[in-house]
Amino acid sequence: MNFYSLNNPSEKVSFKEATIKGQAPDRGLYFPEHIPVLPEDFIKDINSNSREEVAFRVIQPYTDGSLPEDELYRIIAETINFDFPLVKVTDTISTLELFHGPTLAFKDVGARFMSRCLGYFVKDNDQPVTVLVATSGDTGGAVANGFHGVEGVNVVILYPSGKVSSVQELQLTTLGRNITALEVDGSFDDCQRMVKEAFADAALNRELFLTSANSINVARWLPQQFYYFFAWQQWEDKDHPPVISVPSGNFGNICAGLLAHRSGLPVQHFIAACNANAVVPAYLQTGEYKPRQAIATLSNAMDVGNPSNFVRILEIFHQEFQSLKNVLTSYSISDEETKETIRDVYTKNHYLTDPHGAVGYRALIDYLAAQNTAYPGRKQKGIFLETAHPVKFYDTVEPVIGRPIPLPPTVQALIGKEKQSIKIDPLYSQLKDFLLSR
Ligand SMILES: *Cc1c(COP(=O)(O)O)cnc(C)c1O
Repeated sequence: MNFYSLNNPSEKVSFKEATIKGQAPDRGLYFPEHIPVLPEDFIKDINSNSREEVAFRVIQPYTDGSLPEDELYRIIAETINFDFPLVKVTDTISTLELFHGPTLAFKDVGARFMSRCLGYFVKDNDQPVTVLVATSGDTGGAVANGFHGVEGVNVVILYPSGKVSSVQELQLTTLGRNITALEVDGSFDDCQRMVKEAFADAALNRELFLTSANSINVARWLPQQFYYFFAWQQWEDKDHPPVISVPSGNFGNICAGLLAHRSGLPVQHFIAACNANAVVPAYLQTGEYKPRQAIATLSNAMDVGNPSNFVRILEIFHQEFQSLKNVLTSYSISDEETKETIRDVYTKNHYLTDPHGAVGYRALIDYLAAQNTAYPGRKQKGIFLETAHPVKFYDTVEPVIGRPIPLPPTVQALIGKEKQSIKIDPLYSQLKDFLLSR
């Protein structure tokens, strides 16, 4: 399969090139030349396939021509070697838990898949690849963990000193081997600026093979379709497909869901659950897309004022506003409602959500209630994606429920490990010196 740049459809590259480049030289996002349609029998008999087989069927058309089938199968098996359980929360609502990976958030799947693809694509290069990332917390951990031990790839992560949570810092700094953490005495913006300068530095790029692990990379975006198929495998009432609510920030995850739906996956309706950053909810109401400055909220991984993947969603729907509205509804949930939801779901249903999942839950019940009013007697059921483990946001969640959250084994294993970071000032010259000294 080839991928074209959304800024220029005649600019086409293979899956391999799209993965290595990340973004087209004209700064457009890459989009598949066509969307594969899966056979009806496959969808109907999905339970006769293992998770690995399902994932393989879903993604193989996209990687065709770049990855041999046995390599792809190995990459998938390594990527999804943990659980994706669908858990019942109420009679009508279930949650798909996407936090059972090594860094306790759904970004593990995309990061693990991309790292292994990149590792395969560069394995015959004489020169190792250096993946350079700036992180405000979550992405860095997923990327570091995803690339840990991948041959031929070195990862350098810049994070702002004192501005990530202690769990996040341990996830970034205790891996060793091919992962190096640079602790920058500055802000996340400083880290990002330094990384951008490195990519723009022609002299440095002649010395080193630099690449990014940006979330718009096709190798991070496409495997997120797996979640929706895994949900379908576990969905009991196959005659009545679920409404699916997706906590959304950059809209990569929900865009993958909409792509899966276009390939034939049965879904009753999609909900994009947003926090106070309500660009998409406003767009679906007014038809006007107005990017804004991001607002800080409790669900901070969704604090995005101009979701980069939204252009891909419009492309899936051929830029037709009405067809998009038929499939997608979007809600904006306040911090007050988020806290109230965490508390309510915990006390009434004995299920603990993180702030992002709580936004997803709230948007889902608001939608289902509106549907019940409009069509009484047709009781719809839904799934919200739980995108992170609540312990990652314990500082928000613990005061709301009034008790500590037990540590999962992956976090327990981190406690007491020794942090290894290299401190630098927020100066590009220091980053460059470090990169050239190795
Ligand atoms: C990144 C992230 C999101 C938002 O996902 P997008 O694909 O950017 O919409 C939601 N929840 C958590 C916990 C995240 O880390």
